[in-house]
Amino acid sequence: MERVAIFPGSFDPFTVGHESIVKRAIPLFDKIVIMIGYNSNKRSFFPVAKRELWIKEVFKNEPKISVVSHEGLTVDFCKKVNAGYILRGLRTSADFEFERAIAQVNKMMHPQIESVFLLTMPEHTPINSTIVRDIILHGGDASMFLPEALNRVDFKAEE
Ligand code: ADP
Repeated sequence: MERVAIFPGSFDPFTVGHESIVKRAIPLFDKIVIMIGYNSNKRSFFPVAKRELWIKEVFKNEPKISVVSHEGLTVDFCKKVNAGYILRGLRTSADFEFERAIAQVNKMMHPQIESVFLLTMPEHTPINSTIVRDIILHGGDASMFLPEALNRVDFKAEE
C-alpha cells in the first residue's frame, strides 16, 4: 500500500524549518500532502490562498509533494485522502509536550494513523512563524528564515 503522509500546519508563513522537515521526509513516504489548516473564524496573517501558492512554488519540482488547504480535523483529512501518517517537526520539549497530547488523542480515536516526528536541524530550532511574521511586519529582512524559492516574493506587500 502507498505510504501517504500529511504534514499539517498553519504555515503562516512557511519557513526554512518547515521546508527542511518536508525535504527530509521525502525518502520516507510515497506521497506527502502539505495541509494548510485554517479556521475561518480566526484571523491569520497571510491569506490561505497565498500560503498555498508559496508552498506550491517551493515544491514545484517535487512530484511526491502536493499542497492543499483544509478546515477541520487533520484526522478527517487523513481519511479523505487515505493517509496513514501525520508528519510533525519537533524543536523543543515544549513542542514535544504539545505534540504528545495531540498524537496520543489521535491514536486513541484513530488507531490506524501513526504520527511520525522528525527532530529539527539544530540551526532551525529557534525559527518559528510568529517571529518571522514579526520581522516581516516591522520591515526587517526575514529572507534567511524563508525558503530560497521564495526569495523574490515581496512579503511586506502581501500582508
Ligand atoms: P501549527 O500551528 O500546527 O503548530 P506550524 O506552521 O507552526 O503549525 O508548524 C507545523 C509543523 O512544523 C509543526 O509540527 C511544527 O512543530 C513544525 N515546525 C515549525 N517550525 C519548525 C522548525 N523551525 N523546525 C522544525 N519543525 C518546525
